[in-house]
Amino acid sequence: MKKGTGPFFTASSLKKGPVPFFARRAIDGLLAVLLAPRCASCEELLDSPTSGVVCPRCWSALVVFTPPVCERCGLPVLRTGSCGPCRARAFAAEITRLRAVGPYDGTLRRLLHALKYDGRRTLAKRLGILLEAHAHDVLDGAHLLVPVPLHVSRRRERGFNQATDLASALDLPRVDALARVATTRSQTGLSRDQRVRNVRHAFAVRTRALTSAALCDRVVVLVDDVCTTGATLEACARVLARAGAREVRAVTVARALLHHPQMDTDTHR
Ligand SMILES: [Zn+2]
Ligand SMILES: [Zn+2]
Repeated sequence: MKKGTGPFFTASSLKKGPVPFFARRAIDGLLAVLLAPRCASCEELLDSPTSGVVCPRCWSALVVFTPPVCERCGLPVLRTGSCGPCRARAFAAEITRLRAVGPYDGTLRRLLHALKYDGRRTLAKRLGILLEAHAHDVLDGAHLLVPVPLHVSRRRERGFNQATDLASALDLPRVDALARVATTRSQTGLSRDQRVRNVRHAFAVRTRALTSAALCDRVVVLVDDVCTTGATLEACARVLARAGAREVRAVTVARALLHHPQMDTDTHR
């Protein structure tokens, strides 16, 4: 068994009923001794496994973007307004507004890896709550959410799409309007222009008639785990706009900072 996986489904299911405090303490003690589950981020033993797969220290150590942020793309800026790339329309021009919880680094990066690669799907709910808090000005007034799709072969291999789980955790209707119709090479190591070319024809709307009816004149929010150069979001937005969406916005849990040495590591999807 992978470290810390499996038993959490049993533990989290305890949260569904009204479990008295003393009973929860007893269950936590028992689980901690019998299963020794570890935090999905720092891998320290969890004191309170029924409270989730991440320890309170890691949640409180999360680095998040704080105001002032670029009113369009959500990156921290020195003064209220737009950042340089947004003023130059050099970043994801098809998208009117983007927000992310924080930089793709440290704890946030480890949490997304735990969600995607270790199958810690319960994290999507908590990350969704964070997204609601940081992206309310993008989500307000929107009609529906569209998760960025995985190619069917990747979806089958992983068993789920993390973007779908994140969208399901948000309080707006979800429409799985997009399909990834081409397998693309990894975006790792590619320049922005190469990334744009790599995903240009990767997406299409599903069942054109049905999807167009759902999207027509709607304000749509794309949902994904990480945004790097915005090339994937932009390719998706173009397809949605062509299918009739009035406006396309986007939210991602993390945003890779382009000068950062780890910027390329998110693109394994
Ligand atoms: Zn931890
Ligand atoms: Zn900006």
